[in-house]
Formats: sequence, structure tokens, C-alpha cells
Amino acid sequence: MAVEVRGVVARAKGEPVSIETVIVPEPGPGEVVVAVQACGVCHTDLHYREGGINDDFPFLLGHEAAGVVEQVGPGVTSVAPGDFVVLNWRAVCGECRSCRRGRPWYCFATRNASQKMTLADGTPLSPALGIGAFAEKTLVASGQCTKVDAAARPEAVGLLGCGVMAGLGAAMFTGEVGPGDSVAVFGCGGVGCAAIVGARLAGAVQVIAVDLDPRKLALARELGATDAVDASAGDPVAAIRELTGGNGADVCIEAVGNPKVFEQAFFARDLAGTVVQVGVPTPEMRVELPMIELFGRGGRIKASWYGDCLPSRDFPMLVDLYLQGRLDLDRFVSETIPLDGVEGAFHAMERGDVLRSVVVLGS
Ligand SMILES: [Zn+2]
Ligand SMILES: [Zn+2]
Repeated sequence: MAVEVRGVVARAKGEPVSIETVIVPEPGPGEVVVAVQACGVCHTDLHYREGGINDDFPFLLGHEAAGVVEQVGPGVTSVAPGDFVVLNWRAVCGECRSCRRGRPWYCFATRNASQKMTLADGTPLSPALGIGAFAEKTLVASGQCTKVDAAARPEAVGLLGCGVMAGLGAAMFTGEVGPGDSVAVFGCGGVGCAAIVGARLAGAVQVIAVDLDPRKLALARELGATDAVDASAGDPVAAIRELTGGNGADVCIEAVGNPKVFEQAFFARDLAGTVVQVGVPTPEMRVELPMIELFGRGGRIKASWYGDCLPSRDFPMLVDLYLQGRLDLDRFVSETIPLDGVEGAFHAMERGDVLRSVVVLGS
């Protein structure tokens, strides 16, 4: 039977979000209803509200979540009612040309629930990134649920569902940071700080944090950055060269989404080094580089979507590292808020006051 829950909906471009009654249908084939326990507030939710993703209003926001499987539809065998799961937006299809070539982390046809959740009047909702987890319950595809150790704190491990995974993976998977590497991370918000933590986990000996905000640089140091560069105080490229014996960093991670910052990451990199673009640009942004530098420096320029993660492989492993005290996901939870605190959390995020505000739902 369909159920009625409360959810955070963006009804129109630029308008404050509101709490609405959401109808969650009974799960059909391959679908799962999850009772959401916690869901982080991400920039992407704000971009949806601002009409920056597409115009498919109304949106049911929220997509970095953990919860408990409540009901599964016909044919679902990967999870069962009672399982503690982290939700993901990369439910791999197993059939596209990338999956067939053994690269499911690039899957080009990821799955979402086929049925729509609706408003009380029947208006279909577009769930953010196919999830829509600022709601007491949500309907997703079974592959969007990854079972992890239930001993973990939902507020913390739910963040693996998007931003924190993007940052960790930008360093560990896309950048392929390895033992002994030097790494520079441009932009120390949630994603950048996670990239710093990922670089440390992967064995980097030097991790240079770059930002304009001294508060963020202090936090980056707390999370394991060995050096901090205030980009407002001078040329960060020169500063990074100086910190790396005149050479530049092996891996430079751009976690802002800005052409100027990309250029800095490009030139702050050692010969044969790697640039990883994980910050999300806007459509009008352009990059111009001397082609001879692109060629002459060698190495790699890579884009990182969701940290090139494979949720079924990576979420349980990262939750285990968290439970062993080797991955401090709790540090990313700046505050916990109720469902009606999302609009206020958008403003805190814009001011740079928080790494993550996390909505906690009554269990
Ligand atoms: Zn696929
Ligand atoms: Zn996100």
C-alpha cells in the first residue's frame, strides 16, 4: 500500500523549500522503500532549487542518506527489510558498454526507481539524483541501496552517498594517489576536505590544502593537511612549488569548479603528474591553456564523477575503516538539523559555516 510521509520539496525556481506530504508507492519489481534515518545537505540540492540542474519541478530534495530497508518489491534479493543501507546514485546496470567492459564505476545507464513518488494531489516529484531522501521514507531502485555494518552512525556514513565519496574517490580512485605522493587540494569545503582525508588514507606524505578562507584551511589541517596555502595571500602555484622542492605536486585536485582554479591546479603539478577535476563547473565556463604545456608536461588530466566509486565495493570498505577509527566521517557532520531546517542549512552552506548539515529523521 502507498504511504504518506513528510518531505522537503522545491516547488519553483529560486523559491524557499517547503515541507510537503509525499506519497510513496508500494515498491514494484526491483524497487525498495527505505526509512531514511539521516541525509546530508549538499550543494547539488541547492542547485536543483535554483533551477541549475533542470526544470523538472517540483523536486524532492536530499540524496546523501542512510536508513533502514522497510519493504522490497518483487525480485529484489540484494537487500531485505531491516538491512542498514547507504543510498547511492550509481546503481550500475551491468549491461551498458562500460559495464560490459568491466568498468561499472563509469556505468552509462544507472538505475532509479521506475515508479514516481507524488505530492498529495498526484503531481509527480523529481527526486534529487534519483533519490529524494529529505523524507521519512523514499522509493529507490534496489541497486541504490548498499548494505553496510549497522554499527555505524547514519549521520556520518550517509555522507558517503555523495560529497564525501566524491572527495575520497577523487584522491583514491581517480587520482590514484599512492604511497609517498605529494597532493595539493584546491578548495577545502566538504569535497575538498574529503579529498585530503582520501589522500592521507592512500599514503600521501604531503597534502597541501589551498583555500581563500582561513577557517577552511584550519579545518583542512585538522583533517590531515600537512601544509596550508592561503590563495588570497599570493600565487598558490608558486607557494606549492616552494613546498615541493620547486617541482609541484604529484596529484592536484580541483574541488572548486572554477577555470582560474583549474589553471592553478594544472600549473602546480609536477611533470607527469595528474590533475583531477572534481569541482562542478557551470555551462558557460571556459578553460584556455597553452597546448605546448599540455603536451610538454605529460601526465594526466582526469574528471572525477562521484569519485569513480563503485558503491557495492567501496561503501562497506569505507564504513569498516570508519568503524576502525581510520576514517573520521564524524568530523564532516558539522550540525544535525530537523527536516524543516534545510532552507536554513542552505544559507549556512553558502556562508561557508559548515562542512555538512545533516537532517536527522525520527526513527
Ligand atoms: Zn552500466
Ligand atoms: Zn551531493
